Amino acid sequence: QNPVPNATEEAVATAVALRSTTHQPAGYIGYQEYKEQSGYAMLRACAGGARDPEQVIASLESSHLRGLGGAGFPTGRKWRIVRGEPGPRLMAINIDEGEPGTFKDRVYLERDPHRFLEGALIAAWAVGIESIYIYLRDEYHGCRALLEQELARLQANPPVANMPRIELRRGAGAYICGEESAMIESIEGKRGMPRLRPPYVAQVGLFGRPTLQHNFETLHWIRDILEHGADWFASHGRNGRRGLRSFSVSGRVREPGVKLAPAGISVRELIDEYCGGMLEGHSFYAYLPGGASGGILPASLGDVPLDFDTLQPYGCFIGSAAIVILSDRDSAVAAARNTLRFFKDESCGQCTPCRAGTAKALALIEQPHWDTALLAELSQVMRDASICGLGQAAPNPFDCVIKYFTQELA
Ligand code: SF4
Repeated sequence: QNPVPNATEEAVATAVALRSTTHQPAGYIGYQEYKEQSGYAMLRACAGGARDPEQVIASLESSHLRGLGGAGFPTGRKWRIVRGEPGPRLMAINIDEGEPGTFKDRVYLERDPHRFLEGALIAAWAVGIESIYIYLRDEYHGCRALLEQELARLQANPPVANMPRIELRRGAGAYICGEESAMIESIEGKRGMPRLRPPYVAQVGLFGRPTLQHNFETLHWIRDILEHGADWFASHGRNGRRGLRSFSVSGRVREPGVKLAPAGISVRELIDEYCGGMLEGHSFYAYLPGGASGGILPASLGDVPLDFDTLQPYGCFIGSAAIVILSDRDSAVAAARNTLRFFKDESCGQCTPCRAGTAKALALIEQPHWDTALLAELSQVMRDASICGLGQAAPNPFDCVIKYFTQELA
């Protein structure tokens, strides 16, 4: 029995008819242009039997492609796990993009939406997915109009027979709905609160079914990896790391924006080679390597390779690769207060260590003199006992201030 609600193609078509205009930047690649550029040829090759699922999954495994929403789970391995679960299987695509400083998904989506749709359809073919749910950040009004339009075009003229059903769902305007299990709750029509795991969403996900959950950007790379080969993707990288990363760079640089750069590049290299250097009159002081939740590091640690696993020894992580550059005109204390205000507001309130911990920690760091012993104790409790990553990572910014910016606390 089909566990999911009825399709909404009609609703999508109606919405498209009502929205005659969408925001489309110069160079936008719509359905027709995408097909003219060999778009959906890889999907057709897969569906037509020129490739087999095992071969495709093995390619992804050798490419070292990892989940680019922040968790970094190996993509090929995830496909293999979900494929091994009993059907019907579902897929959820996360375009909630709520991490402060992250805007890479929007930039790619606004320019080339069919690339990720082809990636999603290839994933659905390889894993045996019945229905695809796209969860789009509600604040991205232009993207929604655009995606509704392109989905209608795709569904009116499908590149392959027997496409899985695709539903577009609006986000709930909550940061926590970017957490995979909270997103699933939200898609199911419930309040977006993270689930306790196990069971993992790969086993018990949307509507109780095994679910392949991916961030937008992970799927954006599938076609290119299969076309150019796993070695092409893995051959990029610096400092012993492999692959490409889309860094959302903001802050005190001359040229902020989405920078496609080798995994493992350092922030200093990123600023100099990709961002035109620091803004006139500013000198590099500190950086947030992973949006609000990834911590704050001083310029003296500006040569650490930026990638999954490389920042843990410093109490930080890269997450979705949102790099915020601070200069000598900024303060790490102010940044920590700002991020903690955000976490306090966005805590879903389900568990006490996070709900009470973020409020208590904010009250402590808003004091002129920080009680560092009490903050250390509170940080440990939040890390150990919070249900999800929000509460576990919320102490990162103030822990980093205590560790690396003692001069600001004097
Ligand atoms: Fe909710 Fe925070 Fe607990 Fe996560 S850690 S479940 S956001 S209260």
